[in-house]
Amino acid sequence: MLFDCHLHCQFSPDGMMTMEQAKSQAGRLGLGLCVTEHMDCEAPSTADFTFDVDRYFAAGGGVRSQHFLLGVELGLQLGPVVEINRNLASDPRFDFVLGSVHVVGGVDLAGCEYQGRHDARQSMRHYLATATANVAAQPFIDSFAHIDYPLRYDQHLASVFEFNDFRNEFAELFAIMVANDVCLEINTRRLSHRTWREFCEIYRFFAVCGGQAVTLGSDAHGQAQIGRNFDLAVELAGAAGLSICHFASRRPVIDRPA
Ligand SMILES: [Zn+2]
Ligand SMILES: [Zn+2]
Repeated sequence: MLFDCHLHCQFSPDGMMTMEQAKSQAGRLGLGLCVTEHMDCEAPSTADFTFDVDRYFAAGGGVRSQHFLLGVELGLQLGPVVEINRNLASDPRFDFVLGSVHVVGGVDLAGCEYQGRHDARQSMRHYLATATANVAAQPFIDSFAHIDYPLRYDQHLASVFEFNDFRNEFAELFAIMVANDVCLEINTRRLSHRTWREFCEIYRFFAVCGGQAVTLGSDAHGQAQIGRNFDLAVELAGAAGLSICHFASRRPVIDRPA
């Protein structure tokens, strides 16, 4: 069984489904799930993207099973957040800790402020260097989320992006991930036939750098998005020679070998 290891329910301010609704949709699709509510401590965003961990496990206790797991999407930042994140990640109740870089240079990439402040290629380099520094400081994450995050919000960057312009920056990030057994997520939100080549270059290079496994994540905020584009993600992992896994009690479980 494949697992969707990145989705948001009622403990995320932008989540539009309950855990029960997510579970019933996953049942219809024949997928396992791992919920990853937002935990972005000290983020510049105006909304509060954090949650009460005890309330989360209390609410999830009734739905939790071998095929319905409870994780977290930790917003990675340097400074005091490192220790906060380390403490959160050490909570043995989490099945899975997904690490994300949403903030670069003190600015949330999901806001429009970041765009236009730098040359597009320079901003991608800045993002990848920030990701490398953050994974080095927070190597306790299980998988690194949406590596294409800046491309979601910066349309100009998305139009000029060429993998080869950033080969060295990807190599540095992947070296830190491989050294710390951190998986790479295939985030399926932007995955399509149109973006296939760019995804393929990134995931093949992860394998070249020694990466072995990916987790799949739809980044669903509503039921209809659960498992989106997973057919393409399975094809992508196969083309890159990477295994597909999920995490239970923080241990990797291979769902599809390379
Ligand atoms: Zn995210
Ligand atoms: Zn997310």
